[in-house]
Amino acid sequence: MGRPSRCRKWLPPVAESRRRSENHVSTDGAQVVNAVSCTGSTAPFRFNTERFKGVFAEQWQALQAESKINWDGEEDSERSSSWRALENYFTETPIKADERPEAVEVAASADLSDHGLPTLIGVLDLVRSGGRIVDFKLVGKTPEVEMAVHIHGTQLTAYSVLYRDATGRNEGGLELHHLVRTKQPKLIVTSLPPASERQVTRLFRSLESYEEGVARQDFVPSPGFACMGCEYFNECRKWNP
Ligand code: SF4
Repeated sequence: MGRPSRCRKWLPPVAESRRRSENHVSTDGAQVVNAVSCTGSTAPFRFNTERFKGVFAEQWQALQAESKINWDGEEDSERSSSWRALENYFTETPIKADERPEAVEVAASADLSDHGLPTLIGVLDLVRSGGRIVDFKLVGKTPEVEMAVHIHGTQLTAYSVLYRDATGRNEGGLELHHLVRTKQPKLIVTSLPPASERQVTRLFRSLESYEEGVARQDFVPSPGFACMGCEYFNECRKWNP
């Protein structure tokens, strides 16, 4: 199949994992076809993790060279827990060793002017063979599947729209790969069908609403649980009506 435009990187073959438990959850217009908890795999370990460990160690140093991080004596433990989480992913990923990805970290844009909307832009983490779009998430606790689908649905549908615009065909499916960085790391893979027409309409309506809100400068705070991770918290606190 043709690759999405502006592909920037290509994945090396990756290891096969296995042992899965399945879940079926009905959610807002979508059927979660396969929520996979990959833990305790006994699959053959075909990844050269030693090589990746070396790259990780180098990058750990290189990426903080120009920052001043106050580790407060926690750097070693942070580094080793980060590596353990990554190593777990390399071991447990459902991506097969001989699978060739369509694209990695690919930037794409879609002209939505026919729908009266601005251009949609985004970067897709990974497009697996068969057009399965993957988004990676790093979390501190095991996600609840239906909530994860609800929270990330808009983002995934946006990726579907970008993929369809770039390739002229529908995606094969959508996947959330949650890497749970706990003491005993685990990987939760949630597989979803391609975005439905209803989901695309919901996305377009959301974009329409955002655009109209920005145009009339409707920036009234709406405090809630999302504030705990909001990067605009300080600006929001300074808001004057
Ligand atoms: S802190 Fe962020 S999430 Fe909370 S109301 Fe303000 S802008 Fe919204």
